[in-house]
Amino acid sequence: MDVLHRFSFIDLPIRGQWVRLEESLSQATQYRVYPKPIHEMLGQMLAAVAMVADNIKFSGAITLQSRGDGDLVRSLAECQDQEFLRGIMHLQNPENNALTQQPLAQWLGNGQLALSLIPNKDTGMQPYQGFVSLEYDTLAQCLEHYFVTSEQLETCLNFASTSTESAPSVTGLLLQRLPDDPQATEIEVDAARNAWHTLTTLAATVTDEELSQLDAQTLLYRLFNEHPCRLHEPRQLSYRCTCSREKTDTTLMMLGGEDLRTLIEEQSEITVDCEFCGNRYSYDRESATQVLYKLTEQTPADINSDQNPPSEPKTLH
Ligand SMILES: [Zn+2]
Repeated sequence: MDVLHRFSFIDLPIRGQWVRLEESLSQATQYRVYPKPIHEMLGQMLAAVAMVADNIKFSGAITLQSRGDGDLVRSLAECQDQEFLRGIMHLQNPENNALTQQPLAQWLGNGQLALSLIPNKDTGMQPYQGFVSLEYDTLAQCLEHYFVTSEQLETCLNFASTSTESAPSVTGLLLQRLPDDPQATEIEVDAARNAWHTLTTLAATVTDEELSQLDAQTLLYRLFNEHPCRLHEPRQLSYRCTCSREKTDTTLMMLGGEDLRTLIEEQSEITVDCEFCGNRYSYDRESATQVLYKLTEQTPADINSDQNPPSEPKTLH
């Protein structure tokens, strides 16, 4: 089971998270073989959405997704209900195994990376999407910048991956400085600022080997032993695809009435494969016609609000 630990530094407005994904990363990559840098990026994206989700009290999905015209044309990592992860990467040329590390902006080409909150329908909450600026080389640096600019939270983020074929892993370590208490004295604010400087300097000394091998408690002690911190109970994370017949109906409806009718006329059976888990949803003429029926009863606005998430990747046959 994969876990995420929160930790907080005693008497300081500084919190942190440590997450390690092994099983979920293995499962996320069991249907596809990715070149090493893309495999690592998927792991980092999954670790990132797990950390963001852990900090937000709501039921729904946090996604990090990209679109572009570089080597990586589409990517999606999702954490549903703070617990269930899934993710996928689409390469321009999946056969090209010679891809080597390059800056994030180059992977995406003329592209965008967005962090979205997609609340479950029954919450009545509105979805939210923020764009992550791609001006830094690594995903960790781009996300640090995103948290500072969009959430006014100074952030220090590190990832380390191991990519042995049998047991890949990714570990993330995040430190975040919370806003100062309005009642804090000048001395306390100064102390928090100095502690932040010290802790982030120490965090920057972590080696990939330490980050990917040590458990949370040992790592925190090794890095920050002069600053007492409390490690909270772990949150368990696992891989699970959230595809469903209902969502697949919506995918078909998004074709529009005319195209769906043509497809039904041309094919005796329509199959839709979930790209995350390989699940196949089949529609004979009768069940496809029922979907068409549902479509004609709905207004386009209904369909859009039903759509969850907007980029559910599917392959139609
Ligand atoms: Zn699925």
